[in-house]
Amino acid sequence: MKVIILGTGTSQGVPVIGCGCETCNSKNPKDKRTRTSVYIKVNNSNLLIDTSVDFRQQMLRNNITDIDSVLYTHHHVDHIFGMDDLRQITQRLDKRIDIYGREDTLNELRVTFRYVFDKQLIKHKSVPIVKFHNKTNKKFKAGDTEILPIEVHHGNIKIFGYRINDFAYITDASAIDEKELKKLKGLKALIINALRIRPHPTHFNLHQAIEISKSVNPEKTYFTHLTHDILHDKINKTLPKGIELAYDGLEINL
Ligand SMILES: [Zn+2]
Ligand SMILES: [Zn+2]
Ligand SMILES: [Zn+2]
Repeated sequence: MKVIILGTGTSQGVPVIGCGCETCNSKNPKDKRTRTSVYIKVNNSNLLIDTSVDFRQQMLRNNITDIDSVLYTHHHVDHIFGMDDLRQITQRLDKRIDIYGREDTLNELRVTFRYVFDKQLIKHKSVPIVKFHNKTNKKFKAGDTEILPIEVHHGNIKIFGYRINDFAYITDASAIDEKELKKLKGLKALIINALRIRPHPTHFNLHQAIEISKSVNPEKTYFTHLTHDILHDKINKTLPKGIELAYDGLEINL
């Protein structure tokens, strides 16, 4: 199983338009963050978690040419706005992409991408050809791959993270109930959101993410969904052993 971290930035990305701060001016490629998403190659299938605003650029620069399934965490625009570009894959390979997520997430997608369900457009394959699968908080299969949803709080809404084998991906969480934390035992790698240093009402900050990592105790933890408050080299060296900042393009082999 191979994971490529496609994007690690919060909703505005880093650098932020018009910002002159140290991180936004940094020459370090690890301080250039597109919006959060990961690609997973497992059991010979190509899984994607979220279609970020930067999906097209992420596919091109990582030379990824096929996607079989998309698992959506939630409907916020930084996580979904690349969906239209799935069209390049469904057209070229003449295939359908399976889309999985909570029912409320997929209902929001149905409204935001209303044109994707237009019969005329489907006939001419000028929209992404997709099939939606509503999922509850129970194990399910995407192709041959078993997926375990992890339900987390994101401010006042509930969203999904996902566990696949010994890997789990959680973004945009602000709290995780004990029952869901139990599903994260025995991980080799955990990717989890750590927005910034200061607290935030709907996302874990750095301190909270470190506490979650300590309680889950995976072999390795990577932080994502980072703002420009996080200057990579400066913050990375302050993190406890086994925890590091993710960056765009980082590959994890499991
Ligand atoms: Zn987000
Ligand atoms: Zn900045
Ligand atoms: Zn969000």
